[in-house]
Amino acid sequence: SATIADSDPELYEAMRGELGRQQHEVELIASENIVSRAVLEAQGSVLTNKYAEGYPGRRYYGGCEFVDIAETLAIERAKKLFGCEFANVQANSGSQANQSVLFALSKPGETILGMSLDAGGHLTHGARPNLSGKWFNAVQYGLDLETGILDYDQVERLAKEHKPTIIVAGGSAYSRQIDFVRFRQIADEVGAILWVDMAHFAGLVAGGKHPSPFPHAHVVTSTTHKTLRGPRGGLVLTNDEDIAKKINSAIFPGLQGGPLMHVIAGKAVAFGEALRPSYRNYIAAVVDNAKALAETVREGGLEIVSGGTDTHLMLVDLRPKMLTGKASEKSLGRAAITCNKNGVPNDPQKPTITSGVRLGTPAATTRGFGVAEFREVGRLIVEVLDGLKAANSEEGNASVEASVRDRVRELTNRFPIYPGLG
Ligand code: PLP
Repeated sequence: SATIADSDPELYEAMRGELGRQQHEVELIASENIVSRAVLEAQGSVLTNKYAEGYPGRRYYGGCEFVDIAETLAIERAKKLFGCEFANVQANSGSQANQSVLFALSKPGETILGMSLDAGGHLTHGARPNLSGKWFNAVQYGLDLETGILDYDQVERLAKEHKPTIIVAGGSAYSRQIDFVRFRQIADEVGAILWVDMAHFAGLVAGGKHPSPFPHAHVVTSTTHKTLRGPRGGLVLTNDEDIAKKINSAIFPGLQGGPLMHVIAGKAVAFGEALRPSYRNYIAAVVDNAKALAETVREGGLEIVSGGTDTHLMLVDLRPKMLTGKASEKSLGRAAITCNKNGVPNDPQKPTITSGVRLGTPAATTRGFGVAEFREVGRLIVEVLDGLKAANSEEGNASVEASVRDRVRELTNRFPIYPGLG
């Protein structure tokens, strides 16, 4: 049968364009990574053809003997990787993993306590436009505005005042380690369930560079495509048999039908990779690189929210250069450095404009960048932003952007990805 290039040239061109973009841009989006050829192979496999509603050994379809093996491998590897008793690997996304917790462990109208979106929380932790904010009484905590550190005293105060059924810890733009012991103390004081969403830092937990949410959390969710470097998808973990049963029922038949068996196979591959010693080295490099990048952009006159990072990401406050996140993201994009605008604490700008950008090291570390390369990337970022400031227009400085783009091309050529693909 025909390849995409033959049967659908229009789509093929878009796919080739995306491959080229990934090969030749420095990817600093903190939630992205570059998966192995083995993960790609699993996702592009015949497992996509298979219906397998149910769980291994308990399916509603025949012919599941091989996908049962794939799913069992994913489950067993996830349990080993995170040192826990139960894993559900079927959630199609991080958001669906999170919905399964709300569906399994609370009822619409009950109170949940999570980090607010503008403090670095995720939509699914009770943000107003999300189901979690519409169907639940969502109370939100934030950061200590002086330090940029999570305000644990506020969490405790709000927990005592609102008596939530569930407290969620974890976020999308928070650069510091989270104190799970303190969270569990607070949860216990008010009889709440502690749910940790480790989507961002799951890879750091697996690689030994972030405290584990176990044994403190009752339930843990994650995505599989960020620091964990697997296919796009979700994961739910627990040590509690009763919670495990409820989560399984919440995912199927509660929220989903047939699981994406090709993606589950990709998860098995990624968890297997993360169990190898080389992954620990990778994660150590991700964290060292983030520190080097944060230091370099600070030397260039920018601020980092909370003063630095313990993880794979940082939130750059652009106000010292009086730039917006929106204009900076665009200007950096023209220079082949990809990142996303992000609000900073007390941001005077609208969420569509913002005063910050979020930077992360997982993807470029995968392609082999070390501290020296990240220092260079930091200097290139400062050069582009200084050009943007001097230009005093959202158009930026075209010659600076072009010159940085050339130097990015040299860097990416030295650290190629997916040779021979496409
Ligand atoms: N939880 C956190 C903390 C996240 O950062 C994200 C993704 O950005 C999600 C959940 C949702 O994952 P997905 O985009 O797969 O729905």
